[in-house]
Amino acid sequence: MTGDRDAVALTRELLRFDTVNPPGQERACARHAGALLEGWGFRVDYHEYAEGRTSVVGRAGGSDAKAPLCLTGHIDTVALGTAAWTRDPFSGEADGDRLYGRGSSDMKAGVAAILLAAKGVAAKLAGTPGVVIVLTAAEEGGCIGSQHLARTQLLGRAGAMVVGEPTSNYPLVGHKGSLKFHARFRGVSAHGSMPELGVNAIYKAAKAVSKLESFEFGVKPHAVMGVPTMNVGTFEGGQGVNMVPDEASIGVDIRTVAGMDHAALLSRLKNLLGREAELDVFSDMNAVWTEPGGEWVQRVFEICRGQLGARPEPRTATYNTDAGNLLKVYAGAPTVVLGPGEAKLAHQTDEYVSMERIRQSVAIYEALIHDWCSL
Ligand SMILES: [Zn+2]
Repeated sequence: MTGDRDAVALTRELLRFDTVNPPGQERACARHAGALLEGWGFRVDYHEYAEGRTSVVGRAGGSDAKAPLCLTGHIDTVALGTAAWTRDPFSGEADGDRLYGRGSSDMKAGVAAILLAAKGVAAKLAGTPGVVIVLTAAEEGGCIGSQHLARTQLLGRAGAMVVGEPTSNYPLVGHKGSLKFHARFRGVSAHGSMPELGVNAIYKAAKAVSKLESFEFGVKPHAVMGVPTMNVGTFEGGQGVNMVPDEASIGVDIRTVAGMDHAALLSRLKNLLGREAELDVFSDMNAVWTEPGGEWVQRVFEICRGQLGARPEPRTATYNTDAGNLLKVYAGAPTVVLGPGEAKLAHQTDEYVSMERIRQSVAIYEALIHDWCSL
């Protein structure tokens, strides 16, 4: 069943599963990856947080002395977008070194490389710390799959983590956190000609937006991540111009840097907006940051140096990853974001990935597992 396939062929296989999210429907792709892992001797569990929304966890090896190395990626993709593709997004068309498809860079190439690295070491992992492969559903648009996995007992433990999101095989030592919420304001409806009889919810929301615009985080810039940011991205309210609106809401997106306490930040914002604001937090993931001077990160840098031609410097990603959720379970595990895709192509029309980089990343992941498990 497993046959001999290289990383490009496996990426192409994964591209053929339409896992565009929404609606997601990762089950068939997840079962395919899980069957491969089982065929190579992994112990495999599936977890569905909703119908067809399947994540896979595969384990091999394991010892009491040291926790396994986690390699993780997501199997859903974003939508195709409104612009027409010049390539088939689901067949894995090749052109020179480019392999095209939705999710090629973000991040089925990364998942394929993780799987093939796992295959390469599977037979040697007995009695070693081993690896845990976590392939998630529903990363795009909120990391819902990993959020649910973090609440289950399926994840076990991990001593370090590699997130295969697109970095052109450059190891990144973290990324910003995210705190997203809606704030709802209520008023009293009245006829637009008699506003004195009502209470205008839009006025309340507008005042809140003004306060947020001048909000100061009061934190020192992070040496690598820079400063936290806030954006009010949505404003809704009112049902007709001739009515006093009795409801209005705003959507707020905050990107935090390492060391910030989300609970403390949220309580400051609640104080600022006052009791009339009803806050509904729908995404809360801490920043991910691993000290680049740490022993394991230094070894990761050393392993990547051979492929990159230069020793990496500490850098972080602009985007979010599942690590924000997985680290709720794998607390304290040093984490790097490192994968074969091109970050700038993620979510683009005619997305592609370099086939050379996919093969490179299999070698890097295998080297990382060899290092972790002293193979
Ligand atoms: Zn991604």
